[in-house]
Amino acid sequence: MSQDHIRLHIPGPVEVSPATYEAMAAPMIGHRSKDFQALYAEIQPKLQTLFGTSRPVFLSTSSAWGVMEGSLRNLATKKVLCCCSGAFSDKWVDVAARCGKEAEALQYEWGVPVDPADVDAKLATGEFDVVTFIHNETSTGVMNPLAEIAAVCRKYDDVMLVVDTVSSFSVVPTPTDELGVDVMLTGSQKALALPPGLALFTVSEAAMERAKTVNDRGYYFDFIEFAKNQEKDMTPSTPCIATIYGLRHQLNVIFEEGIEARMGRHERLNETVHEWVKANGFEFFAPEGFRSKSLTCVANNKEIDVAQLVKLMRENHRIALDGGYGKIKGTTFRISNMGDETDETIGNLLAALDDSLAKL
Ligand SMILES: *Cc1c(COP(=O)(O)O)cnc(C)c1O
Repeated sequence: MSQDHIRLHIPGPVEVSPATYEAMAAPMIGHRSKDFQALYAEIQPKLQTLFGTSRPVFLSTSSAWGVMEGSLRNLATKKVLCCCSGAFSDKWVDVAARCGKEAEALQYEWGVPVDPADVDAKLATGEFDVVTFIHNETSTGVMNPLAEIAAVCRKYDDVMLVVDTVSSFSVVPTPTDELGVDVMLTGSQKALALPPGLALFTVSEAAMERAKTVNDRGYYFDFIEFAKNQEKDMTPSTPCIATIYGLRHQLNVIFEEGIEARMGRHERLNETVHEWVKANGFEFFAPEGFRSKSLTCVANNKEIDVAQLVKLMRENHRIALDGGYGKIKGTTFRISNMGDETDETIGNLLAALDDSLAKL
């Protein structure tokens, strides 16, 4: 890594390892070639294991929002219920409106987890046929109760549950089939520790059937196109092949480490950060029991100068720290432990934080 390298500890994009970059530098291949089909087929079983699904895992050359928007365009015929409790989940309402879909926000204060009973009450009205749900609200560090929300949605046959696991995928189990999730989606630049540009998703049989009946699905995110191309181990259009090389490498890394061991490492490093937060007299923005395992959103109860902290971290330690997202910028800051972080890198990060805090 070069001297100007600023190590990313923001909650996405996260640090990408030199070995991953090296894997990405393999010679280019044609996306309609046998070589690409072999690459696609090689990674499918591992992706299916990680997603907990027997369904295909589709690769979309887009950021996660492409699939988040695409899910609405493929599935919504009635109203969309958007579970809102932070920057990403709030934005989904606006995205639905821009797609010409009617959407209602089930709105919570930022930092408050989504309550399954509220979702149940809303769905009981029969007005909705899609629910959008963000598992890990990266802006607030809240991990919402996925299993409970999925259980509620399973009671309503015509309701499609779309789950964003962008910052929880491969950090905690997200067993798609077992939970009956209709669209499970994630992105490359968070816990998978790849560069941005690739979204990964699965579509249930029921959701695929629904899509067939929906007009104006568009082309780029049309689920039917993904399914047709999948049969030939291909994507609808030219994908970001270099990132897919990186994905193949990272999947090998993940399976060598072991999924459970990897998740255990995330949990342990997250706990290390939590200990630091408590030892330094800070509080957590998320309530106990709903705290993310991939990042920590620290409440600035000590009223430190967060912008200055971010500056010192960058200038003195070559570390990028996040000084809070949107309306909670400055009143919070966020520490990511996702991806390839180790005891050593998190230890270095916390030492740099100690040093920077002392200089405020
Ligand atoms: C980062 C993030 C997104 C946005 O992903 P893009 O790749 O920028 O589209 C969406 N949802 C969550 C929970 C995220 O953390």
